[in-house]
Formats: sequence, C-alpha cells, structure tokens
Amino acid sequence: MNTFEQHESEVRSYCRSFPVIFDKAQGVYLYSADGKAYLDFLAGAGTLNYGHNNPIIKQALLDYISNDGITHGLDMYTKAKEQFLKALNKYILEPRGLDYVCMFTGPTGTNAVEAALKLARKIKGRTDILSFTNGFHGCSLGSLAVTGNSSKRLAAGLPSQGVQRLPYSGYFGRDADTLAMMDKLLSDPSSGFDLPAAVIFEPIQGEGGLNAASTEWMQGLAALCKKHDILLIADNIQCGNGRSGQFFSFEEAGIVPDIVTCSKSLSGYGLPFAITLIKPELDEWTPGEHNGTFRGNNHAFITAAKTLETYWADDSFAKEVQHKSEILKQRLEAIAAKFDDPSLIFAKGRGFMRGLQIKNGELAAEITQACFEQQLIIETSGSEDQVVKCLIPLTISEQDLHKGLDILEKCTLEVLAKYLPQQKSGAAA
Ligand SMILES: *Cc1c(COP(=O)(O)O)cnc(C)c1O
Repeated sequence: MNTFEQHESEVRSYCRSFPVIFDKAQGVYLYSADGKAYLDFLAGAGTLNYGHNNPIIKQALLDYISNDGITHGLDMYTKAKEQFLKALNKYILEPRGLDYVCMFTGPTGTNAVEAALKLARKIKGRTDILSFTNGFHGCSLGSLAVTGNSSKRLAAGLPSQGVQRLPYSGYFGRDADTLAMMDKLLSDPSSGFDLPAAVIFEPIQGEGGLNAASTEWMQGLAALCKKHDILLIADNIQCGNGRSGQFFSFEEAGIVPDIVTCSKSLSGYGLPFAITLIKPELDEWTPGEHNGTFRGNNHAFITAAKTLETYWADDSFAKEVQHKSEILKQRLEAIAAKFDDPSLIFAKGRGFMRGLQIKNGELAAEITQACFEQQLIIETSGSEDQVVKCLIPLTISEQDLHKGLDILEKCTLEVLAKYLPQQKSGAAA
C-alpha cells in the first residue's frame, strides 16, 4: 500500500487511472518522480490551456511574490485586482463589444455556477433552472442539481431541487427539433412545465462527452430565452479560455448570454480562480449578499492578467488554436475512418476540444490505459465514460501534437484491432 492508498480518502479519482507519483511539469509534459516524461493530453481537465508552469506567466508571478505583493486581501481593492479587471476589459470584453460586470466568487468553478443560479433566482423570483441532458456544472448542491450525471447527483443524498431538464442540442439526433419542444412546453400553461428563472448550458459539453451545440441551436436557445423572459447562463468553465478556438465558447454563435461563468484555465497557470460575468443591468446583488473568504485570488489576478495580455491582445493566438484544431479534427477523423463504423468509433467535438466516441466505456478505458503505458495522459468522459477526450494545452507545438496523436492512433488501432475491416474480410496484402 502506498502513502495515498493508506492515508487518502477513497474519493480520489484521476490518480487511479494514472498511478505514478508526479513531481515536475513543464509545458505539455508531466514528469514522474522516477524521471519519466508523460505527454499531458488531460491538462488538469482543461485548467492548463497554456501548459504547465508557462515561463512567461511564471515570471510575472515570481516578480509579484518577491515584491511582497498581496496574497490574500478578502475582496479589498488591490493593484493586482485592478490589473486583472483592466486586462479583462481591454483584451477580452471591449474588443468583442461585451459589457459585463465581474463578480469574484469563491475560487472554483462550482462557486461561479452557484452565484449565477442564486442571482438568476433572485432577479426573476422563480425557483427553477432549466438545464440539459449530459450537462455538468459542479459538485456543490446547487450546481449538482443542474448536472445530468446520476452517480454524481445521487451522492448528494438529497433530491435535486429547483431544476427541470430538457434534451441538449442533437440529443435525439440531428433531425429532432428540441427547441421547438422547449418552446411548446414553455408556451402551454398545462404542460406542467413551470417557467424557469434561467437556462444554464455548456456551449460544448466537457464531462458530458464532448457534445457541441450547433450554432443554430445556441442562437435559437438565446431567442427562446428572450421570448419567454428567461435568463441565459453560459457555463464557459471548461469550453472557454480559448478552447473552442475563440476566447468565449459562444462567440461563434454571436449570442450574448446574460450571465457567463468562467474558471478552469482563467488564471492561465492552474491557480484556483473563478468569476461570474453579469450584464450590468442584472447586477442586483446588495453588498456582501453573496460572500466568501477566498473571493478572488491575488496570485491568480496576476497570472490571469499576464495571460490575457500575452495571448489575447490580438487574434494571432486564436488563429493558431484554430489551425491546430483543424489538425486535431483531421487526425481524429482519420483514425475513425479506418473502422468505417460509427457505432464503434467516431470523432466529435468542436475547436480544440475533441475526441473519439467509442462503442463502450470498457473499450475506451482500454485505449486510455494503453496510452498511459506509452506515456500519454488522456482521460475519458461521457455518460458511459465512452468518449476519449483530448484536452490538450493550446500552446502545444505541432510536433508534440502529432507525437501524442500518433500514440492515440496506435493504441486505438491495437485495442480495436479485431474490428478493423480488412481483418474481418481476411484480405491479404
Ligand atoms: C469543471 C467544471 C465545473 C466545476 O468546476 P470546479 O472547479 O470543479 O468546481 C463547472 N462547469 C463545467 C462546465 C466544468 O467543466
């Protein structure tokens, strides 16, 4: 029994898939204590979009710390916070014509979601939040209630309250119009469907298995929310921060959500940091009405400001991510095409958030396990853990991208070898 098995709770999870002790990390590589290099296609579940210990961001943090910059300041005004707010407005909001005030919540994603839900209920004076199949929004009670995954929800030991659920974009296949269904349910006073305060959705579902909402669906959803006087909350926590190929995951659809939650890669450095963006006219909070000791993290203010200034001052980084997204898409599609059987394997996702949906969770786990043996860290997601998910740092070189995808391809072909068409027909060279 190692130290962790002896002393750490059974609740531990990722470490079970990758049972080595990690010690150092740089860029897209994690190094185990025994000196082995692992290519990291998990990247802190989307928290390390700019790689591990990114040298530019690290230097800004080191300078700040050696200068005795504030580490903790409750929510008092600090130079670091001012720097972040200025950078957010200058590099992100203003160029996109977006007007939001920034609420600093507790430092994890679920804190930003809880704040968004609480504010929406307060503004509208309604109880329910409408969420979608396969959505994931966090593990504290409010966020958990709007999450789909039943094993996570049942762990609450309480019924999920204040939530109604509808099918996400594409849930019943490409041809089913799930928004028409939503419109009808909301329009019919006898549908049994109470008017919700807000709708919460992920533009690309991360934990739910890389389901990407179509542009038309996002636009239709925004229009329906307007029509029925419902607030629109975009959970941008995993699919944001450049992951979709643009800073915000909803930009492609040209919609402006009422409330946006951001976390994971927001600090740029893997530091805990979350914010809830609110349209100014909806900022109905009274002072201290939603509180917390660790609201805003001054070290994260510094690293986030540096990240925005370094990568988002113009669109060159976004273009680079879009280019790599195309490579990722083509390579995943090429792997799937070898089998020519979408019930066995197909490529899915959007932007630099893509993966391979495999017939079942067992085969998907065999693939990620084989990858780990080849020193590639990659995880699964989806309702049956059947989707092999690439959450690759956006800063990866094309060379390392191909190196990792070569491993993924080799392992997928090995695990699914018996399904390869040429072997079925017994054709010889
Ligand atoms: C990770 C995640 C959360 C929760 O963030 P935590 O930091 O784990 O609380 C919420 N929404 C989405 C879409 C996420 O991916």
